[in-house]
Amino acid sequence: MYSDRINILSESITIAVTTLAQELRAQGKDILSFSAGEPDFDTPQVIKDSAIKAINAGYTKYTAVDGIVELKVAIANKLKRDNGLSYANNQIIVSNGAKHSLFNLFQAVIEEGDEVIIPAPFWVTYPELVKYSGGSVVEVSTDDKSGFKMTAAQLKSAITPKTRMVILTTPSNPTGSVYTKDELTALADVLKGTKILVASDEMYEKLIYDGEFTSCAAISEDMYDRTITINGLSKSVAMTGWRFGYLAAKDVNLIKAMKRLQSQSTSNICSITQHAAITGLDGSADADIEMMRKAFASRRDEAVDLFNAIDGVSVVKPDGAFYLFVNISKLEKDSLKFSKELLEETGVAIVPGVAFGTDGHFRFSFATDIESIREGISRIKNFLSKHY
Ligand code: PMP
Ligand code: GLU
Repeated sequence: MYSDRINILSESITIAVTTLAQELRAQGKDILSFSAGEPDFDTPQVIKDSAIKAINAGYTKYTAVDGIVELKVAIANKLKRDNGLSYANNQIIVSNGAKHSLFNLFQAVIEEGDEVIIPAPFWVTYPELVKYSGGSVVEVSTDDKSGFKMTAAQLKSAITPKTRMVILTTPSNPTGSVYTKDELTALADVLKGTKILVASDEMYEKLIYDGEFTSCAAISEDMYDRTITINGLSKSVAMTGWRFGYLAAKDVNLIKAMKRLQSQSTSNICSITQHAAITGLDGSADADIEMMRKAFASRRDEAVDLFNAIDGVSVVKPDGAFYLFVNISKLEKDSLKFSKELLEETGVAIVPGVAFGTDGHFRFSFATDIESIREGISRIKNFLSKHY
C-alpha cells in the first residue's frame, strides 16, 4: 500500500520514548524522564532578543533556500574561529536542523548498494536515513574497553570497494566519547588514497568536559577534502525547537545538489530562526554556553559516581555531550525489556541501548536537574536490587 522506501523506515526511538514519557506525565503519573536529547535550559535571552527584533523588523518572508548571506558569513566565521576551517558561502548550506542536513547529504551522495560505515553505538537516525537513501549500513562495534571509539584497524577491516562514506560523531550520542587528534589522524591515514567521504557530526562540539575537541576536517588537507562537517545550535545553545542546522563541504557542487533538493522540498528554514542563529554563532551567547557546560559537567560527575556505585552496573565517564551509556549487561542483556519494565514500575524513562545498536546498555541523559538525577538513579538502583 505504501512505498518500500517508507516501509523500511522506523520511527526515532529517542523521540518516541520522550513523547511517551510526556504523555504519561500529562496523565498525572510520577515520571522522571532521562530520555530527551535536549538541554533543560531555556534558549539564552540574547538569542531570543534577536528573534524578536527580526520579527519587528519584518524579516518574515521567504529567504534564499540555503540561508541568508549574513548567516552564511556567521557560520563561516565560526568554522574559522573555532575549528580552523575555511569555507566560502557557497560551501555552506543551512537546513531545518542537523537531522535535515544529514537527510539532504545522504540523498545527494548515496547510491543504491553503497556501503556506509557507522561505528556502534550510533545515534538512532543514521542507519535509518542511510537505508532510506538506498545505502547499506556496515556497523563497527565498539565497547567500553576502547572508550566506545572505532580504531584505525577496525575501520580498515570494514572498508570494501563499495564503501562510500564513514560517519563519525564526536562527541558521541549516545556515549559522550570524544576522538582525540591522534585517534582522528590514525583514522585519516586509513582513508588516504580512497574516495571515501567522511560525514563528521559535531553537534555536541561545545559540550566538552575533559580533553579537547578536534574537527575531522582540520586533521589534514586530505581530510578537509573528503569531510562534510555537520553542526547546529540545538545542543550548544538550547535551540532544539528553532530548527537550525548546517553543513559545510569543499565540493560546491554537492552544496548545489542539496540546495536543489531543498528548493523542491522545504525551501529556506524559518526566517526568524536564521536571525536568531547569527547571535547563537557569533560569540554573543558564549557566557551562557559556558554556564550550561559547567552545570552539565558537575551533573556528569555526580551521576557517573552514583551509577558506578551500583553492583553490576558500570559506566565510562564521558568526555563530552550529555549522555551516560550505562552498562547493565552483567544483569540484563535485553535493554528493551529492561526499559519498559523500569518505566512501568518506577516511572523512570531511559532509552534502551538496542536503539543505538548496542544491547545490554541504556542511555541516560543528564541534561536535567540534579535532584531528578539523584532520585532517578536511586529508583533504578532499587529496581535492580529488587529484580536482579
Ligand atoms: N546529530 C546528533 C548526534 C544528535 O544527537 C542530534 C540530536 N537530535 C542531531 C544530530 C540533530 O539535531 P537537530 O536536528 O536538532 O539539529
Ligand atoms: N538527538 C536527540 C536524541 O538523541 C533528539 C531526538 C532525536 O532527534 O532523535 O535524543
